[in-house]
Amino acid sequence: KAKEDKLSLVIYEAGMDEVHMRQLRILRCLPEAVEKDQLELHYQPKMNCANGKVKGAEALIRWHHPDLGFVRPDEFIPLAEQAGEITRITRWVCLQVIQQLLVWQQAGKQLSVSLNLSAVDLMSDGLADFLSQAVASSGIEPHLLTLEVTESAIMHDPEAAIARLQRLQSVGLRISIDDYGTGYSSLAQLKRLPVNELKIDRSFIQHLAESEQDRMIVRSTLALAHDFGLQAVAEGIEEESAWTILKEFGCDELQGYYFSKPLPVAEFTQWLLTQEE
Ligand code: C2E
Ligand code: CA
Ligand code: CA
Ligand code: CA
Repeated sequence: KAKEDKLSLVIYEAGMDEVHMRQLRILRCLPEAVEKDQLELHYQPKMNCANGKVKGAEALIRWHHPDLGFVRPDEFIPLAEQAGEITRITRWVCLQVIQQLLVWQQAGKQLSVSLNLSAVDLMSDGLADFLSQAVASSGIEPHLLTLEVTESAIMHDPEAAIARLQRLQSVGLRISIDDYGTGYSSLAQLKRLPVNELKIDRSFIQHLAESEQDRMIVRSTLALAHDFGLQAVAEGIEEESAWTILKEFGCDELQGYYFSKPLPVAEFTQWLLTQEE
């Protein structure tokens, strides 16, 4: 028995080592990911809940490294934050998205795009300076760009983060609270936040049809959002039944595999053609 335990411990440690080694390799390869053009944005449609029409998309980053293969964002984003690489990555994302908004604007398409900011992006003035500058010189309509931030990213240093978000909102950009319901922010906090949108976390959406409790949570979150004058988005829609329920509850926008998974921009453009205007 003791021998078995020891063996599984060795295997366990070997497993840990593998994870650790991969993390070290990711850290080593991250600095050149932007320069070597290894990053790509995929776009997942955001739909109008009432009529099922496309409103825009969320930009989600993808990293394909020649040796490491495909590295998931939830694997490398936290490492990029620790290593101080996220600043460069976020700026790259912002510029790509602005570029895409210009392409759609010139094609006469009124599509909006959401992008994700990390906690580190809110810890200094750099991003707000960069983004307000980039938006102003690009000529895009700022209200077509939404910045998704999590509650925990704001709660790290609420005063400073709120001031920065206020600045971004004052140039016309929209602010969305991502993964809403998974954090610990109180209603009092919500009142103080410069925010336009609440994005209900997919953990509340995925069992909507089976769980009376989830339906109660989602219904009251939607009421709260609307009482505060905010748009409400639900993510992680995988089944039509969730759409039916959310429509009845008066949710504003939906996102999820039921409509489409995140797609490379060329495929997203193809997908758009399959949707009625
Ligand atoms: P998130 O912002 O909450 O993004 C939603 C995640 O849910 C995405 O995973 C998306 O592909 C996935 N998803 C969408 N619809 C469904 C569905 O119906 N069912 C299920 N099970 N999943 C769905 P992804 O693309 O792997 O991104 C994971 C996380 O990585 C994101 O979570 C976000 O926190 C982070 N991330 C992605 N791109 C960026 C980026 O450009 N910058 C930063 N800072 N973080 C990013
Ligand atoms: Ca997001
Ligand atoms: Ca989310
Ligand atoms: Ca998330």
